[in-house]
Amino acid sequence: MSSTNDFAPAQIVGPDGKLLQVQSRQLSMADAKLLREYKKFLLRHRLREAPVRCRDCFEGNREDFHHFFVTDSQIQYSCGCRQLFYQGQTLA
Ligand SMILES: [Zn+2]
Repeated sequence: MSSTNDFAPAQIVGPDGKLLQVQSRQLSMADAKLLREYKKFLLRHRLREAPVRCRDCFEGNREDFHHFFVTDSQIQYSCGCRQLFYQGQTLA
């Protein structure tokens, strides 16, 4: 099992369809649980999600694209410099 500090090189598909080399990190189960609760909160109160953006990309004026989704089986955030992910269920 990886700790939350583990990074690994990964490739993601950028907005132009080209592959980007990024650092990939697995989220902890606590973070995954929090993100799923956040999504449920938004649904419960009929709120729209604020854009989740990478500070490094924003401040570094890198290409501004991001991809963020949370499902029951997977969580993924990716931008021009990294990927955060979680695979699997979160225990109650
Ligand atoms: Zn970034």
